[in-house]
Amino acid sequence: MWHRLGREDFRETGELMGGSPGTRMWRVCERYELRELPEAPEGGALADFLVPAYSSDPSNSDRWREYEPLRDTPDLFLKFAKVYQAEDQVKSMTAWVHSYGVLGDGYPSWQSGAPQHTVRFREAVAQAAGVLALYEAVLNGDDQRAKSVVLEEFPFVGIWWRIHNALPDKPAHMDREFVADQIAESVEEIYGGDYLWYALETAADEVERAVSSYCSPTLSVEEGARDPSGITAQWNFKSLLGAMYLQMYWLMAAGTDLARCEYCGFPLSLARPNPEGRKRRSDKRFCDDACRQAQHRSKKKA
Ligand SMILES: [Zn+2]
Repeated sequence: MWHRLGREDFRETGELMGGSPGTRMWRVCERYELRELPEAPEGGALADFLVPAYSSDPSNSDRWREYEPLRDTPDLFLKFAKVYQAEDQVKSMTAWVHSYGVLGDGYPSWQSGAPQHTVRFREAVAQAAGVLALYEAVLNGDDQRAKSVVLEEFPFVGIWWRIHNALPDKPAHMDREFVADQIAESVEEIYGGDYLWYALETAADEVERAVSSYCSPTLSVEEGARDPSGITAQWNFKSLLGAMYLQMYWLMAAGTDLARCEYCGFPLSLARPNPEGRKRRSDKRFCDDACRQAQHRSKKKA
């Protein structure tokens, strides 16, 4: 039985972490066009970018809309990671950007009106999909799955890929297979062959890195406040990637406090809501009917 994370999981863990999301807005243009632009700001190779069709100049304000990613789309990380499975990557990326805007991690930095480098978008999608796959393997306690996620599907997620990619004299044989071998070796030596441990640590590391690069904690002071209670602690994000990784950060941080399914051990408030959409009972013991029945059957056998 394989459980996946769903939008309700993100909604609930966001709430568990308290009403502390910042109020930063992100802007979305009504139309983006695929264009070739110099990759580096000072010129250089041409690359494909998705560019807003209208400048963010106030005279174009009717061409842009705004939303609050942390409040309006608590499961944006999940939606983003799903782009990875789309057959037509360009179409899927374009649709995503038209719905939620550019990532804002390019040049000029941290702006929702900046051109979106298409290769960087795909890299970010693959990274997010990898983090999600690692974490889902851990949630399901599935060793074999963790191993294939780590070595076969997403060897480019995590420290080993970064180390090799950063080498000034990057070896010519630096590819997925080479890095997968390095990972396999270190899992044997350092993690005693435990792929779940490695997967959990890698997912946590990657989320922590993204949040510390793209987010910042803030203390906002109410206008005219002269009393300590005028302060609100909030999270702010610099790029849309920051908002998404913050959602994953909250979800993972909440994971420690949750009750678990008595059959499969999946954290309960992260389990899929039942299909009839009835409200979840607080005395819930299983993720769903499948787990409940499986538990009954295994009890009978015993
Ligand atoms: Zn279960």
